[in-house]
Amino acid sequence: MTSKIEFKPFFPEKNKRAYWIAGPCSAESEEQVLETARGLASAKIDLFRAGIWKPRTRPNSFEGIGTEGLSWLQKVKSETGLNVCTEVANTAHVEACLKHNIDVLWIGARTTVSPFAVQEIADALEGSGVKVLIKNPINPDLKLWVGAVERIAKSGIENIGVIHRGFSSFEKNKYRNQPRWQIAIDLKREFPDITMICDSSHISGNRQFLEEVSQKALDLNYDGIMMEVHPDPDNALSDAQQQITPGTFAEIKSRLKYRPSGIDNADFKESLASLRFQIDEIDDEIISLMNSRMVIVDEIGSYKKRNNISILQTKRWNEILERCVTKGSELGLTPEFISNLLKAVHQESINRQHDILKRED
Ligand code: PEP
Ligand code: MN
Repeated sequence: MTSKIEFKPFFPEKNKRAYWIAGPCSAESEEQVLETARGLASAKIDLFRAGIWKPRTRPNSFEGIGTEGLSWLQKVKSETGLNVCTEVANTAHVEACLKHNIDVLWIGARTTVSPFAVQEIADALEGSGVKVLIKNPINPDLKLWVGAVERIAKSGIENIGVIHRGFSSFEKNKYRNQPRWQIAIDLKREFPDITMICDSSHISGNRQFLEEVSQKALDLNYDGIMMEVHPDPDNALSDAQQQITPGTFAEIKSRLKYRPSGIDNADFKESLASLRFQIDEIDDEIISLMNSRMVIVDEIGSYKKRNNISILQTKRWNEILERCVTKGSELGLTPEFISNLLKAVHQESINRQHDILKRED
């Protein structure tokens, strides 16, 4: 079901060009903040970001410079003309930001998970008219993300956008946070007009992936990109591996291609990119299920070897074929397709078991 919330376009040229948010993970010193902002102003970004209060997993890491950093953001604004944004997690943060005329506030991934915290922020925002960006929660729960948007909207904020920064996962993966693009696409289904930004830095976790992640987001009709930029990335006090210099940012930005969708946002779910994306997700799942199947096939191979049983068990193979063809027909898949598919899988299983019989002598 699509929600009735009306959002004001987060920035005027939505659907015509991409929107760029960049700046350091953390504000570390006035000079670092201003140097980054000068570089990014020449790269023509739309919004400057810097974390002042940092939600860190462990207590002894750098937890942000605090309220003092807000005056550095004000200097960025007066010196470069850039709008500025920072993360807020409680009433005191919101009040301090409103006092310092911060243009946009963002709610971080660790805050979106807590309806209490989001409600507290929503209450503090009431009547302010400030713009708010809401990151996805760290866990892949679409409803928490939707709920946070609804809470902020209920407090009367009309300029709401969302930031997709990926989801944490226990397993080691290529990216620091799993994109799970489908969840962002589902959020877009819920709120077709909402502005959707991709935080490529927190998805990637490493600067080498920033460009591919950003391009994928733009191909999926995202409205913009957020990246972490630092004058000396390797020595940044937080998220060093994923930060880049303003110069590298400008190069990546110039290579990224934004293609206006040419269709209403309401049609987003029908867009080719979104459908193709869903196909890729399903193919990934099929491949990983095939792998799980082959792991079991190998176990059976070793068992057959130990018990001196032949590989091909015709009766069992016929049963598999029959069962799957029937199941497929119920779903409208032709017997020909299912048996061809299974024959390929079966052949691979026989080959693997054959190798095991040879190997384990
Ligand atoms: C950040 O943007 O620096 C940050 C802390 O992000 P997240 O809430 O996505 O982890
Ligand atoms: Mn960061």
